[in-house]
Amino acid sequence: METRPKLVIFDCDGVLVDSELIVSAAEAAEITRVGRPITVAEAVHKFAGVPAKDMYRSIEEELGMPLPKDFSERVDERVRQLYLSELAAIPSARETIRALRIPCCVASSSAPNRLGLALAKTELFELFYPYIFSTVLVRNGKPAPDIFLYAAEKMGVAPADTFVVEDSIAGVTAAKAAGMTALGFLGGSHCSPSHDVCLKEAGAKYIFSRFEDLLPIVEGSARELGHVPGIPSEIVQKVQEITNGAPATAS
Ligand SMILES: [Mg+2]
Repeated sequence: METRPKLVIFDCDGVLVDSELIVSAAEAAEITRVGRPITVAEAVHKFAGVPAKDMYRSIEEELGMPLPKDFSERVDERVRQLYLSELAAIPSARETIRALRIPCCVASSSAPNRLGLALAKTELFELFYPYIFSTVLVRNGKPAPDIFLYAAEKMGVAPADTFVVEDSIAGVTAAKAAGMTALGFLGGSHCSPSHDVCLKEAGAKYIFSRFEDLLPIVEGSARELGHVPGIPSEIVQKVQEITNGAPATAS
């Protein structure tokens, strides 16, 4: 039985805000512009949850030359415009976090300006401020555990008492490496149907796709992963209802 955590760390992109497709669209447009054609889906797969400097290094290796000096500025400007016009919070994130009654913070691979804008635009900033941490504060980005260890230390909580909510393989890997309990979140619009398998394989102890389902996990009343690889969670839930003898709901 999992004990109740003393801290819940939230990733931002793809967990609190539905930003991964927006950011990946901006990145794909600029990467394509500099000579490496890439689709939005490919950009999501390769770079979601990866710090910008690691992404830039990877693109430069593929291109065999340095990126233009204004590359990151151009990506940032595209992201900024799209955030202002399109970015939304993940449904029920605000309400659920208010209901948790456990210290919470944000630990994100986004740079502080982008992170601040994302949280402010979606009215999440005041829920977390000042406990908002960017990987610019630490030496190594996710999948290294540095930012989660840093955040937990600042919050005064031991890694073993900390839950981390993550949507990316890099993030779940980082949480596990930090000695924390990783929860895989599938509610972002960038998540493919098989993403639960990837997060489970990376070490997520629970998988959920609606914020409402976070409360029973944190309260220790949810079951640990019962997912069958490749089977959507709704079907797994239906099977569990049947095997538990729960009455079928009329539809
Ligand atoms: Mg993320």
